[in-house]
Amino acid sequence: MPSFLQDMGLGVQENALQDVMGIMGCSKSTARTLLMHFRWSTETLFGVLAEREKDELYKLASVTSRSTDGPSCSGKQRSWEEVACGCCFCDVPRKETTDMGCGHIFCNDCWSQHCRVQIKDGRSRKLPCMGVKCGAACDEEKVRQLIGDDPDLLAKFDRSLLESYVEDNALVRWCPSVPHCGRAIRVEGELHCEPECTCGLRFCFACGEDPHSPCTCDMWKQWKEKCHDDSETKNWLTANTKPCPKCGKPVEKNGGCNLVMCTCRQAFCWLCGAATGMSHTWTEISGHSCGRYKEDVDRRIGEAQRNVKRYMHYYTRWEAHMKSSKAEAQTRRSIQEKIVALEENTSLLKDYSWLSQAQEQLFHARRVLGYSYAYAYYMFGNVMFREEITPEQNTINQNLFEDQQQQLEVEVERLSGLVEMGPERIEKVEEQLRLQVINSTINIDKRLVNLYQLIENDLLGSLQFSTGYIAPYGVSFSPLSHPLHTCPLHAALAQPLQLVDRN
Ligand SMILES: [Zn+2]
Ligand SMILES: [Zn+2]
Ligand SMILES: [Zn+2]
Ligand SMILES: [Zn+2]
Ligand SMILES: [Zn+2]
Ligand SMILES: [Zn+2]
Ligand SMILES: [Zn+2]
Repeated sequence: MPSFLQDMGLGVQENALQDVMGIMGCSKSTARTLLMHFRWSTETLFGVLAEREKDELYKLASVTSRSTDGPSCSGKQRSWEEVACGCCFCDVPRKETTDMGCGHIFCNDCWSQHCRVQIKDGRSRKLPCMGVKCGAACDEEKVRQLIGDDPDLLAKFDRSLLESYVEDNALVRWCPSVPHCGRAIRVEGELHCEPECTCGLRFCFACGEDPHSPCTCDMWKQWKEKCHDDSETKNWLTANTKPCPKCGKPVEKNGGCNLVMCTCRQAFCWLCGAATGMSHTWTEISGHSCGRYKEDVDRRIGEAQRNVKRYMHYYTRWEAHMKSSKAEAQTRRSIQEKIVALEENTSLLKDYSWLSQAQEQLFHARRVLGYSYAYAYYMFGNVMFREEITPEQNTINQNLFEDQQQQLEVEVERLSGLVEMGPERIEKVEEQLRLQVINSTINIDKRLVNLYQLIENDLLGSLQFSTGYIAPYGVSFSPLSHPLHTCPLHAALAQPLQLVDRN
Protein backbone atom coordinates (compact mmCIF):
# COMPACT_ATOMS: atom_id res chain seq x y z
CA MET A 1 0.00 0.00 0.00
CA PRO A 2 1.18 3.55 -0.59
CA SER A 3 3.39 4.32 2.35
CA PHE A 4 2.58 7.97 2.64
CA LEU A 5 -1.01 7.21 3.56
CA GLN A 6 0.13 5.16 6.50
CA ASP A 7 2.64 7.70 7.73
CA MET A 8 1.64 11.25 7.07
CA GLY A 9 -1.49 11.25 4.93
CA LEU A 10 -3.28 9.30 7.62
CA GLY A 11 -3.02 12.35 9.85
CA VAL A 12 -5.05 14.44 7.43
CA GLN A 13 -7.70 11.76 7.24
CA GLU A 14 -7.73 11.33 11.01
CA ASN A 15 -8.19 15.08 11.51
CA ALA A 16 -11.26 15.08 9.31
CA LEU A 17 -12.70 12.09 11.20
CA GLN A 18 -12.03 13.69 14.59
CA ASP A 19 -13.65 16.96 13.49
CA VAL A 20 -16.82 15.19 12.50
CA MET A 21 -16.86 12.93 15.58
CA GLY A 22 -16.44 16.00 17.79
CA ILE A 23 -19.20 18.03 16.22
CA MET A 24 -21.68 15.25 15.58
CA GLY A 25 -20.89 13.31 18.73
CA CYS A 26 -20.83 10.10 16.72
CA SER A 27 -18.63 7.04 16.35
CA LYS A 28 -15.67 6.90 14.00
CA SER A 29 -17.55 4.49 11.79
CA THR A 30 -20.43 6.93 11.42
CA ALA A 31 -18.04 9.82 10.82
CA ARG A 32 -16.35 7.84 8.07
CA THR A 33 -19.62 6.89 6.41
CA LEU A 34 -20.72 10.53 6.48
CA LEU A 35 -17.42 11.77 5.09
CA MET A 36 -17.42 9.18 2.32
CA HIS A 37 -20.86 10.36 1.35
CA PHE A 38 -19.70 13.98 1.19
CA ARG A 39 -16.49 13.01 -0.59
CA TRP A 40 -14.37 13.91 2.43
CA SER A 41 -15.40 17.52 2.41
CA THR A 42 -16.09 18.55 5.99
CA GLU A 43 -17.24 21.95 4.68
CA THR A 44 -20.00 20.36 2.61
CA LEU A 45 -21.00 18.09 5.46
CA PHE A 46 -21.26 20.90 8.00
CA GLY A 47 -22.96 23.06 5.40
CA VAL A 48 -25.72 20.47 5.03
CA LEU A 49 -25.89 20.05 8.79
CA ALA A 50 -26.54 23.78 9.16
CA GLU A 51 -29.61 23.48 6.97
CA ARG A 52 -31.04 20.10 7.84
CA GLU A 53 -31.84 17.88 10.78
CA LYS A 54 -29.20 15.46 11.93
CA ASP A 55 -31.51 12.51 11.20
CA GLU A 56 -32.00 13.70 7.66
CA LEU A 57 -28.26 13.95 7.22
CA TYR A 58 -27.81 10.41 8.48
CA LYS A 59 -30.46 9.17 6.12
CA LEU A 60 -28.73 10.84 3.17
CA ALA A 61 -25.52 9.00 3.94
CA SER A 62 -27.24 5.66 4.79
CA VAL A 63 -26.24 5.90 8.42
CA THR A 64 -28.70 4.30 10.81
CA SER A 65 -29.44 6.62 13.67
CA ARG A 66 -29.34 3.84 16.23
CA SER A 67 -25.87 2.78 15.24
CA THR A 68 -24.70 6.22 16.28
CA ASP A 69 -25.87 5.82 19.85
CA GLY A 70 -23.27 3.24 20.67
CA PRO A 71 -24.12 -0.39 21.51
CA SER A 72 -27.64 -1.18 20.50
CA CYS A 73 -28.40 -3.93 23.01
CA SER A 74 -31.36 -2.83 24.99
CA GLY A 75 -31.43 -3.79 28.63
CA LYS A 76 -34.70 -5.65 28.46
CA GLN A 77 -33.35 -8.34 26.19
CA ARG A 78 -31.31 -10.99 27.90
CA SER A 79 -28.21 -12.22 26.18
CA TRP A 80 -29.05 -15.93 26.63
CA GLU A 81 -32.49 -15.51 25.09
CA GLU A 82 -32.70 -17.35 21.81
CA VAL A 83 -33.67 -15.48 18.68
CA ALA A 84 -34.28 -16.73 15.15
CA CYS A 85 -31.71 -15.55 12.60
CA GLY A 86 -33.51 -13.87 9.72
CA CYS A 87 -31.13 -15.45 7.25
CA CYS A 88 -30.52 -19.10 8.16
CA PHE A 89 -33.59 -19.32 10.46
CA CYS A 90 -31.58 -21.06 13.21
CA ASP A 91 -32.37 -20.27 16.81
CA VAL A 92 -29.26 -18.80 18.36
CA PRO A 93 -28.52 -17.08 21.68
CA ARG A 94 -28.83 -13.31 21.36
CA LYS A 95 -25.18 -12.84 22.28
CA GLU A 96 -24.23 -14.72 19.11
CA THR A 97 -26.14 -12.32 16.92
CA THR A 98 -25.34 -8.83 15.72
CA ASP A 99 -27.62 -5.89 15.17
CA MET A 100 -26.11 -3.30 12.83
CA GLY A 101 -28.36 -0.60 14.20
CA CYS A 102 -30.98 -0.69 11.48
CA GLY A 103 -32.99 -3.30 13.36
CA HIS A 104 -31.91 -6.27 11.28
CA ILE A 105 -30.59 -9.03 13.51
CA PHE A 106 -28.73 -11.99 12.07
CA CYS A 107 -26.51 -14.64 13.55
CA ASN A 108 -22.79 -13.92 13.57
CA ASP A 109 -22.06 -16.79 11.18
CA CYS A 110 -24.37 -15.33 8.57
CA TRP A 111 -22.97 -11.83 9.13
CA SER A 112 -19.35 -12.86 8.78
CA GLN A 113 -20.18 -14.81 5.65
CA HIS A 114 -21.89 -11.72 4.26
CA CYS A 115 -19.01 -9.40 5.20
CA ARG A 116 -16.48 -11.75 3.64
CA VAL A 117 -18.33 -11.71 0.31
CA GLN A 118 -18.84 -7.95 0.36
CA ILE A 119 -15.20 -7.18 1.14
CA LYS A 120 -13.93 -9.62 -1.47
CA ASP A 121 -16.22 -7.98 -4.01
CA GLY A 122 -14.74 -4.60 -3.20
CA ARG A 123 -17.64 -3.23 -1.17
CA SER A 124 -15.77 -2.53 2.05
CA ARG A 125 -16.85 1.06 2.09
CA LYS A 126 -20.44 1.46 3.18
CA LEU A 127 -20.68 -2.28 3.51
CA PRO A 128 -24.45 -2.76 3.22
CA CYS A 129 -26.72 -4.48 5.76
CA MET A 130 -27.97 -7.96 4.88
CA GLY A 131 -31.60 -6.97 5.36
CA VAL A 132 -33.71 -6.95 2.22
CA LYS A 133 -33.75 -3.45 0.68
CA CYS A 134 -32.14 -2.04 3.82
CA GLY A 135 -28.96 -0.51 2.42
CA ALA A 136 -27.81 0.84 5.79
CA ALA A 137 -24.04 0.98 6.17
CA CYS A 138 -22.64 -1.55 8.63
CA ASP A 139 -20.68 -0.32 11.61
CA GLU A 140 -16.98 -0.78 10.84
CA GLU A 141 -16.11 -1.88 14.39
CA LYS A 142 -18.73 -4.62 14.27
CA VAL A 143 -17.46 -5.72 10.86
CA ARG A 144 -13.93 -5.92 12.28
CA GLN A 145 -15.16 -8.16 15.09
CA LEU A 146 -17.04 -10.41 12.69
CA ILE A 147 -14.06 -11.00 10.41
CA GLY A 148 -11.45 -10.84 13.18
CA ASP A 149 -10.34 -14.44 12.60
CA ASP A 150 -9.11 -13.65 9.09
CA PRO A 151 -6.14 -11.23 9.26
CA ASP A 152 -5.80 -10.96 5.46
CA LEU A 153 -9.42 -10.00 5.03
CA LEU A 154 -9.18 -7.58 7.93
CA ALA A 155 -6.16 -5.94 6.31
CA LYS A 156 -8.02 -5.66 3.01
CA PHE A 157 -10.96 -4.07 4.80
CA ASP A 158 -8.81 -1.53 6.64
CA ARG A 159 -6.81 -0.68 3.53
CA SER A 160 -9.95 0.02 1.59
CA LEU A 161 -11.26 2.37 4.29
CA LEU A 162 -7.94 4.17 4.30
CA GLU A 163 -7.84 4.52 0.54
CA SER A 164 -11.31 5.96 0.55
CA TYR A 165 -9.71 9.20 1.67
CA VAL A 166 -8.08 9.42 -1.73
CA GLU A 167 -10.57 7.65 -3.92
CA ASP A 168 -13.80 9.14 -2.60
CA ASN A 169 -12.30 12.56 -2.14
CA ALA A 170 -13.07 15.15 -4.79
CA LEU A 171 -9.95 17.14 -3.94
CA VAL A 172 -7.48 14.27 -3.82
CA ARG A 173 -6.28 12.08 -6.65
CA TRP A 174 -3.71 9.34 -7.00
CA CYS A 175 -0.74 10.31 -9.11
CA PRO A 176 -1.41 8.46 -12.39
CA SER A 177 2.24 7.41 -12.81
CA VAL A 178 2.94 3.91 -14.13
CA PRO A 179 4.38 2.11 -12.23
CA HIS A 180 2.55 3.93 -9.49
CA CYS A 181 4.76 6.21 -7.42
CA GLY A 182 2.39 5.74 -4.47
CA ARG A 183 1.55 9.40 -3.99
CA ALA A 184 -1.70 11.26 -3.98
CA ILE A 185 -2.11 14.93 -4.75
CA ARG A 186 -4.52 17.21 -2.99
CA VAL A 187 -5.66 20.51 -4.45
CA GLU A 188 -7.52 23.31 -2.78
CA GLY A 189 -10.78 24.21 -4.44
CA GLU A 190 -9.73 24.48 -8.07
CA LEU A 191 -9.89 21.15 -9.88
CA HIS A 192 -8.71 22.51 -13.20
CA CYS A 193 -4.99 22.62 -12.76
CA GLU A 194 -1.97 20.64 -13.85
CA PRO A 195 0.09 19.79 -10.78
CA GLU A 196 3.44 18.07 -10.87
CA CYS A 197 3.95 15.13 -8.55
CA THR A 198 7.25 14.75 -6.70
CA CYS A 199 7.96 11.80 -8.98
CA GLY A 200 8.12 14.29 -11.86
CA LEU A 201 4.85 13.45 -13.55
CA ARG A 202 2.63 16.36 -14.45
CA PHE A 203 -1.00 15.66 -15.16
CA CYS A 204 -4.42 17.22 -15.49
CA PHE A 205 -5.99 17.00 -12.04
CA ALA A 206 -9.52 17.13 -13.40
CA CYS A 207 -9.27 14.11 -15.70
CA GLY A 208 -5.99 12.44 -14.68
CA GLU A 209 -4.67 12.53 -18.24
CA ASP A 210 -1.53 14.18 -19.57
CA PRO A 211 -1.59 17.96 -19.19
CA HIS A 212 -3.58 19.37 -22.10
CA SER A 213 -4.33 23.02 -21.41
CA PRO A 214 -5.64 25.05 -23.25
CA CYS A 215 -7.79 22.14 -24.39
CA THR A 216 -10.68 21.34 -22.10
CA CYS A 217 -10.72 17.78 -20.75
CA ASP A 218 -13.48 16.99 -23.19
CA MET A 219 -11.58 18.35 -26.19
CA TRP A 220 -8.49 16.42 -25.20
CA LYS A 221 -10.41 13.19 -24.79
CA GLN A 222 -11.97 13.55 -28.22
CA TRP A 223 -8.73 14.64 -29.84
CA LYS A 224 -6.83 11.68 -28.41
CA GLU A 225 -9.45 9.26 -29.64
CA LYS A 226 -9.57 10.89 -33.02
CA CYS A 227 -5.80 10.79 -33.45
CA HIS A 228 -5.67 7.22 -32.25
CA ASP A 229 -8.41 6.06 -34.58
CA ASP A 230 -7.03 7.90 -37.54
CA SER A 231 -3.27 7.82 -37.23
CA GLU A 232 -2.18 4.49 -38.73
CA THR A 233 -4.63 4.48 -41.53
CA LYS A 234 -4.54 8.18 -42.27
CA ASN A 235 -2.10 8.05 -45.15
CA TRP A 236 -3.65 5.00 -46.65
CA LEU A 237 -7.10 6.51 -46.33
CA THR A 238 -6.36 9.68 -48.19
CA ALA A 239 -4.84 7.66 -51.02
CA ASN A 240 -7.34 4.81 -51.26
CA THR A 241 -10.73 5.84 -49.97
CA LYS A 242 -13.40 8.43 -50.44
CA PRO A 243 -15.71 9.73 -47.75
CA CYS A 244 -19.30 8.51 -47.87
CA PRO A 245 -21.56 11.43 -48.85
CA LYS A 246 -24.04 10.47 -46.13
CA CYS A 247 -22.05 9.59 -43.02
CA GLY A 248 -18.57 10.80 -43.94
CA LYS A 249 -16.85 7.48 -43.20
CA PRO A 250 -14.03 6.57 -45.57
CA VAL A 251 -15.05 3.89 -48.05
CA GLU A 252 -12.69 1.66 -49.99
CA LYS A 253 -13.25 0.72 -53.60
CA ASN A 254 -13.39 -2.97 -54.45
CA GLY A 255 -12.57 -3.92 -58.02
CA GLY A 256 -13.23 -1.80 -61.03
CA CYS A 257 -16.85 -0.90 -60.45
CA ASN A 258 -17.41 2.75 -59.76
CA LEU A 259 -20.57 2.18 -57.77
CA VAL A 260 -19.41 1.79 -54.17
CA MET A 261 -21.37 1.05 -51.05
CA CYS A 262 -20.79 2.40 -47.57
CA THR A 263 -21.52 0.31 -44.45
CA CYS A 264 -24.35 2.75 -43.74
CA ARG A 265 -26.02 1.37 -46.90
CA GLN A 266 -25.49 4.56 -48.86
CA ALA A 267 -24.36 3.93 -52.41
CA PHE A 268 -22.28 6.51 -54.19
CA CYS A 269 -20.32 7.15 -57.32
CA TRP A 270 -16.55 6.69 -56.96
CA LEU A 271 -15.80 9.17 -59.69
CA CYS A 272 -17.58 12.14 -58.23
CA GLY A 273 -18.39 10.99 -54.70
CA ALA A 274 -22.09 11.82 -55.00
CA ALA A 275 -24.88 9.69 -53.52
CA THR A 276 -26.62 7.41 -56.03
CA GLY A 277 -29.13 4.57 -56.19
CA MET A 278 -27.92 1.01 -55.75
CA SER A 279 -28.24 -0.43 -59.23
CA HIS A 280 -26.21 -0.03 -62.34
CA THR A 281 -26.20 -1.18 -65.94
CA TRP A 282 -23.20 -2.47 -67.88
CA THR A 283 -21.84 0.92 -68.52
CA GLU A 284 -23.22 3.30 -65.98
CA ILE A 285 -24.91 3.72 -62.62
CA SER A 286 -28.63 3.96 -63.28
CA GLY A 287 -30.08 7.40 -62.96
CA HIS A 288 -26.69 8.93 -62.36
CA SER A 289 -24.27 10.63 -64.66
CA CYS A 290 -21.47 12.85 -63.61
CA GLY A 291 -19.57 13.55 -66.76
CA ARG A 292 -21.09 16.99 -66.66
CA TYR A 293 -19.84 19.51 -64.16
CA LYS A 294 -22.46 20.19 -61.50
CA GLU A 295 -21.86 22.78 -58.88
CA ASP A 296 -24.11 21.40 -56.14
CA VAL A 297 -22.50 17.96 -56.30
CA ASP A 298 -19.13 19.61 -56.22
CA ARG A 299 -20.09 21.46 -53.07
CA ARG A 300 -21.28 18.31 -51.34
CA ILE A 301 -18.14 16.33 -51.98
CA GLY A 302 -16.16 19.43 -51.13
CA GLU A 303 -17.66 19.41 -47.64
CA ALA A 304 -16.36 15.95 -46.75
CA GLN A 305 -12.95 16.63 -48.18
CA ARG A 306 -12.78 19.99 -46.49
CA ASN A 307 -13.33 18.25 -43.15
CA VAL A 308 -10.44 15.89 -43.73
CA LYS A 309 -8.23 18.73 -44.89
CA ARG A 310 -9.18 20.84 -41.92
CA TYR A 311 -8.35 18.06 -39.48
CA MET A 312 -5.04 17.39 -41.21
CA HIS A 313 -4.16 21.08 -40.95
CA TYR A 314 -4.47 21.02 -37.16
CA TYR A 315 -3.13 17.54 -36.73
CA THR A 316 0.14 18.09 -38.58
CA ARG A 317 0.87 21.24 -36.58
CA TRP A 318 -0.01 19.60 -33.29
CA GLU A 319 2.22 16.66 -34.13
CA ALA A 320 5.11 18.88 -35.24
CA HIS A 321 5.05 20.78 -31.94
CA MET A 322 4.94 17.55 -29.96
CA LYS A 323 8.01 16.35 -31.82
CA SER A 324 9.81 19.64 -31.20
CA SER A 325 8.87 19.36 -27.55
CA LYS A 326 10.57 15.97 -27.31
CA ALA A 327 13.72 17.25 -28.98
CA GLU A 328 13.79 20.31 -26.72
CA ALA A 329 13.35 18.15 -23.63
CA GLN A 330 16.48 16.28 -24.69
CA THR A 331 18.48 19.50 -25.03
CA ARG A 332 17.09 20.71 -21.74
CA ARG A 333 18.24 17.60 -19.90
CA SER A 334 21.80 17.78 -21.17
CA ILE A 335 22.01 21.50 -20.41
CA GLN A 336 20.57 21.03 -16.93
CA GLU A 337 23.20 18.41 -16.16
CA LYS A 338 25.89 20.79 -17.27
CA ILE A 339 24.42 23.64 -15.20
CA VAL A 340 24.30 21.48 -12.08
CA ALA A 341 27.93 20.53 -12.64
CA LEU A 342 28.92 24.16 -13.15
CA GLU A 343 27.03 25.41 -10.12
CA GLU A 344 28.60 22.76 -7.91
CA ASN A 345 31.95 24.15 -8.87
CA THR A 346 31.88 26.98 -6.35
CA SER A 347 34.97 28.72 -7.70
CA LEU A 348 32.82 29.85 -10.63
CA LEU A 349 30.15 32.06 -9.12
CA LYS A 350 27.98 32.02 -12.17
CA ASP A 351 24.23 32.19 -12.26
CA TYR A 352 22.50 30.13 -14.93
CA SER A 353 18.96 30.51 -13.69
CA TRP A 354 18.15 32.63 -16.75
CA LEU A 355 18.85 29.60 -18.91
CA SER A 356 16.96 27.14 -16.71
CA GLN A 357 13.98 29.45 -16.64
CA ALA A 358 14.11 29.98 -20.39
CA GLN A 359 14.02 26.25 -20.93
CA GLU A 360 11.20 25.68 -18.54
CA GLN A 361 9.26 28.47 -20.18
CA LEU A 362 9.99 27.02 -23.59
CA PHE A 363 8.86 23.60 -22.46
CA HIS A 364 5.47 24.84 -21.28
CA ALA A 365 4.97 27.26 -24.14
CA ARG A 366 5.73 24.57 -26.70
CA ARG A 367 3.17 22.27 -25.19
CA VAL A 368 0.53 24.99 -24.96
CA LEU A 369 1.23 25.87 -28.57
CA GLY A 370 0.82 22.27 -29.68
CA TYR A 371 -2.38 21.79 -27.72
CA SER A 372 -3.69 25.10 -28.99
CA TYR A 373 -4.06 23.42 -32.39
CA ALA A 374 -6.25 20.69 -30.96
CA TYR A 375 -8.14 23.40 -29.11
CA ALA A 376 -8.66 25.37 -32.32
CA TYR A 377 -9.91 22.29 -34.13
CA TYR A 378 -12.81 21.99 -31.68
CA MET A 379 -13.33 25.64 -30.82
CA PHE A 380 -13.80 26.89 -34.37
CA GLY A 381 -15.40 25.57 -37.51
CA ASN A 382 -18.65 24.68 -35.73
CA VAL A 383 -17.32 21.41 -34.36
CA MET A 384 -18.23 21.60 -30.70
CA PHE A 385 -20.19 24.78 -30.20
CA ARG A 386 -22.41 24.87 -33.27
CA GLU A 387 -25.42 26.01 -31.26
CA GLU A 388 -23.69 28.80 -29.47
CA ILE A 389 -21.50 30.60 -31.95
CA THR A 390 -22.77 32.16 -35.17
CA PRO A 391 -20.62 31.68 -38.28
CA GLU A 392 -19.81 35.40 -38.25
CA GLN A 393 -18.73 35.32 -34.62
CA ASN A 394 -16.77 32.17 -35.33
CA THR A 395 -14.74 33.94 -38.00
CA ILE A 396 -14.03 36.88 -35.71
CA ASN A 397 -13.04 34.55 -32.86
CA GLN A 398 -10.81 32.48 -35.05
CA ASN A 399 -8.98 35.53 -36.37
CA LEU A 400 -8.41 36.88 -32.88
CA PHE A 401 -7.17 33.52 -31.72
CA GLU A 402 -4.89 32.90 -34.65
CA ASP A 403 -3.30 36.33 -34.22
CA GLN A 404 -2.33 35.45 -30.65
CA GLN A 405 -1.37 31.91 -31.53
CA GLN A 406 0.91 33.01 -34.36
CA GLN A 407 2.59 35.64 -32.19
CA LEU A 408 3.29 32.97 -29.63
CA GLU A 409 4.53 30.58 -32.28
CA VAL A 410 7.04 33.08 -33.67
CA GLU A 411 8.47 33.74 -30.23
CA VAL A 412 8.59 30.06 -29.27
CA GLU A 413 10.56 29.23 -32.40
CA ARG A 414 12.88 32.14 -31.68
CA LEU A 415 13.61 31.04 -28.12
CA SER A 416 13.99 27.44 -29.24
CA GLY A 417 16.67 28.54 -31.69
CA LEU A 418 18.41 30.69 -29.08
CA VAL A 419 18.73 28.00 -26.42
CA GLU A 420 19.57 25.20 -28.79
CA MET A 421 23.19 24.86 -27.83
CA GLY A 422 25.54 22.09 -26.91
CA PRO A 423 26.34 21.88 -23.18
CA GLU A 424 29.95 22.81 -23.90
CA ARG A 425 28.85 26.23 -25.13
CA ILE A 426 27.20 27.31 -21.89
CA GLU A 427 30.35 28.61 -20.27
CA LYS A 428 31.15 30.77 -23.26
CA VAL A 429 27.73 32.33 -23.78
CA GLU A 430 28.04 35.97 -24.80
CA GLU A 431 26.19 38.66 -22.88
CA GLN A 432 24.19 39.55 -25.96
CA LEU A 433 22.77 36.05 -26.32
CA ARG A 434 21.97 35.94 -22.62
CA LEU A 435 19.94 39.15 -22.93
CA GLN A 436 18.15 37.87 -26.02
CA VAL A 437 17.17 34.71 -24.18
CA ILE A 438 15.85 36.64 -21.17
CA ASN A 439 13.99 38.99 -23.46
CA SER A 440 12.40 36.15 -25.37
CA THR A 441 11.41 34.36 -22.15
CA ILE A 442 9.58 37.47 -20.98
CA ASN A 443 7.91 37.90 -24.37
CA ILE A 444 6.62 34.35 -24.31
CA ASP A 445 5.19 34.87 -20.86
CA LYS A 446 3.32 37.97 -22.05
CA ARG A 447 2.01 36.19 -25.11
CA LEU A 448 0.84 33.21 -23.09
CA VAL A 449 -0.99 35.55 -20.73
CA ASN A 450 -2.71 37.19 -23.70
CA LEU A 451 -3.61 33.91 -25.32
CA TYR A 452 -5.09 32.54 -22.11
CA GLN A 453 -7.01 35.73 -21.49
CA LEU A 454 -8.57 35.47 -24.91
CA ILE A 455 -9.42 31.79 -24.47
CA GLU A 456 -10.76 32.00 -20.94
CA ASN A 457 -12.59 35.31 -21.10
CA ASP A 458 -13.67 35.80 -24.69
CA LEU A 459 -13.89 32.34 -26.21
CA LEU A 460 -14.79 29.72 -23.60
CA GLY A 461 -16.02 32.38 -21.20
CA SER A 462 -18.64 33.70 -23.60
CA LEU A 463 -20.32 30.36 -24.24
CA GLN A 464 -24.00 30.42 -23.36
CA PHE A 465 -24.77 26.77 -22.68
CA SER A 466 -21.52 24.87 -22.39
CA THR A 467 -18.99 25.38 -19.68
CA GLY A 468 -15.42 25.02 -20.80
CA TYR A 469 -12.89 24.98 -18.01
CA ILE A 470 -9.19 24.73 -18.61
CA ALA A 471 -6.16 24.71 -16.36
CA PRO A 472 -5.23 28.39 -16.30
CA TYR A 473 -1.80 29.65 -17.24
CA GLY A 474 0.48 30.55 -14.39
CA VAL A 475 -1.21 28.51 -11.70
CA SER A 476 0.47 25.18 -12.07
CA PHE A 477 3.49 26.63 -13.74
CA SER A 478 5.08 29.93 -14.50
CA PRO A 479 8.80 30.07 -14.18
CA LEU A 480 8.67 33.85 -14.14
CA SER A 481 6.30 34.32 -11.25
CA HIS A 482 7.87 31.46 -9.33
CA PRO A 483 11.65 31.49 -9.59
CA LEU A 484 12.78 27.89 -9.68
CA HIS A 485 14.73 27.67 -6.46
CA THR A 486 12.66 29.70 -4.06
CA CYS A 487 9.26 28.64 -5.28
CA PRO A 488 6.84 28.11 -2.38
CA LEU A 489 4.78 25.95 -4.70
CA HIS A 490 7.68 23.60 -5.28
CA ALA A 491 8.36 23.49 -1.56
CA ALA A 492 4.76 22.48 -0.95
CA LEU A 493 4.99 19.91 -3.71
CA ALA A 494 7.84 18.17 -1.96
CA GLN A 495 5.57 16.96 0.81
CA PRO A 496 4.16 13.46 0.60
CA LEU A 497 0.57 14.57 0.43
CA GLN A 498 0.90 17.36 -2.00
CA LEU A 499 -0.98 20.55 -1.86
CA VAL A 500 -1.53 22.84 -4.78
CA ASP A 501 -2.91 26.11 -3.59
CA ARG A 502 -4.32 28.53 -6.11
CA ASN A 503 -3.42 31.52 -4.01
ZN1 LIG B 1 -27.94 -17.08 10.45
ZN1 LIG C 1 -30.67 -3.45 7.92
ZN1 LIG D 1 3.85 10.56 -8.79
ZN1 LIG E 1 -8.15 17.13 -18.14
ZN1 LIG F 1 -22.05 6.05 -45.14
ZN1 LIG G 1 -20.77 -3.29 -60.29
ZN1 LIG H 1 -20.54 10.25 -60.40
